[in-house]
Amino acid sequence: ESAVNHNFIRPIIQEDLDTGRVTGKIVTRFPPEPNGYLHIGHAKSICLNFGLAEEFGGDCHLRFDDTNPAKEEQEFIEAIKEDVQWLGFQWAGDVRYASSYFEQFYDWAIHLIKQGKAYVCDLTAEQASEYRGWATKPGKESPFRNRSVEENLTLFEKMKQGEFDEGFCVLRAKIDMASPNMNMRDPILYRIRKKAHHQTGDKWCIYPSYDFAHGQGDAIEGVTHSICTLEFQDHRPLYEWFIENLPVPSQPKQYEFGRLNLNYTVTSKRNLKQLVDEQIVAGWNDPRMPTISGMRRRGYTASALRSFCNGLAVAKTDGVVDIAQLEFEIRDDLNENAARAMCVLNPLKLTITNASDGVEWLEVANHPQQESMGYRSVPFTNTIYIDASDFTEDTSLSRKKFKRLVIGDYVRLRGAYVIKADDVIKNDSGDVVEVIASLVPNTVGQNPPAEMKPRGVIHWVSATEGKEVELRLYDRLFLAEAPGKETGNYLDDVNPDSLKVIKAVAEPAIVNCKPETAFQFEREGYFVTDRYDHSVDSPVFNLTIGLKEDTSK
Ligand code: ATP
Ligand code: MG
Ligand code: MG
Repeated sequence: ESAVNHNFIRPIIQEDLDTGRVTGKIVTRFPPEPNGYLHIGHAKSICLNFGLAEEFGGDCHLRFDDTNPAKEEQEFIEAIKEDVQWLGFQWAGDVRYASSYFEQFYDWAIHLIKQGKAYVCDLTAEQASEYRGWATKPGKESPFRNRSVEENLTLFEKMKQGEFDEGFCVLRAKIDMASPNMNMRDPILYRIRKKAHHQTGDKWCIYPSYDFAHGQGDAIEGVTHSICTLEFQDHRPLYEWFIENLPVPSQPKQYEFGRLNLNYTVTSKRNLKQLVDEQIVAGWNDPRMPTISGMRRRGYTASALRSFCNGLAVAKTDGVVDIAQLEFEIRDDLNENAARAMCVLNPLKLTITNASDGVEWLEVANHPQQESMGYRSVPFTNTIYIDASDFTEDTSLSRKKFKRLVIGDYVRLRGAYVIKADDVIKNDSGDVVEVIASLVPNTVGQNPPAEMKPRGVIHWVSATEGKEVELRLYDRLFLAEAPGKETGNYLDDVNPDSLKVIKAVAEPAIVNCKPETAFQFEREGYFVTDRYDHSVDSPVFNLTIGLKEDTSK
């Protein structure tokens, strides 16, 4: 799991410890805004922040960057905490909230006003954007920029007391309207938002901007390395301006790395929210979603996700990673750790004329290599189901080409006897509805005589002892490598067949397991019992992933 990937932050931390910029522990943080569920991109950030803290004996905090009550919800907070822990990480100390620091941020805003470094501005949003100019055109100073300290203090107090309507005015830092960096052109520190907050209730009707909260939150918590994604690179001068101009208790530093993008996938909370809101999927944790909880429900394991994330380079450029890389990790883990079982997806009845009546219980290994995974009892009876695609009347198919059951020839039933197909029964339209077969005695765990060599091994389930199960067959949610690239709308690339629900017949032992139990259904794929809908009385299995990479896609 700890293959050493390229990570430009690692040597920076080492140097900070060596030179004494950081004395004591390093502190990182993972700072989600609770406005959606975490996705695979967040998993990279989690593995990076918690991983570095672990590696250097430091702490990693979980801090909710909850400065915008309009889009945030308690449900998201709970889901995020659960996802982080499920991935295998534990934050140092209690969960933290930027909103716990609102009082301190407010005092610091007053500090800036008193220093003549912040002012209340009454420009409308439209005017403000016109005044701001653009990258190649210096902005114009707001006519409210030169209000006196006293006037600003009074107005800011009124903002806080709720005396103005939303949007009537904002508090801005007084920095440089001609700066080539747009973030430095008198950025907003506080907005009026007459909305209850999930943590602070009705206490506040002014809320700090992300920029005014983030670095100061880091400073309050003693974060030493504040690691974020590249889109914040241009915010770094502002981050540093606040740290320099406020009496903060510590000096955090910001570093930016490339976000994770995956092909065939969208990873933006806004898009994921749209998929949920428009009911294209059944919720944030739908097994087709690239959310951590969706992937979990799909049967992806925490250790495979960590392996995937830890294998990614941490660099100063964004890149697109092939989803096959993630799928490889999932298969690799499940191949090693999932118990084998038999489930027939497309049943064809097969009657064995010389089998005894009643049930013969066969002991079958749960894993071909892992002896420690033990054995289970599989009931063998004189009527069984095999998969319809495992039988043909076409005797011209070579043994090499068709390693399954052919009329007049032999095949091995996994964990049971070698059988021979003797005859078929057809319906009025000529379809085979039943195969009549005979078994070769004494072939459980033993080879048959040479002239009865089986073509291959197929899976099967007792027709009388097997259990009906629901299978949810998932496929990729998007058909295009870069969803939306052709038409500009990623919804145009949604796969209309990303879910098929079928009934199948499974051996009885596996129905009795808990939700979130992984299996390899022999010759079919990896499946997991659904986290929410599976029960012994109505078993539900989700297709996690096929056995082999589908190279046709
Ligand atoms: P999105 O842009 O997908 O809506 P976000 O960046 O707004 O997500 P936050 O809750 O603000 O989501 O993110 C929490 C942390 O996760 C931030 O430090 C952010 O930089 C990081 N993060 C978000 N998306 C990715 C990604 N695709 N790759 C790596 N890190 C990410
Ligand atoms: Mg965000
Ligand atoms: Mg973002």
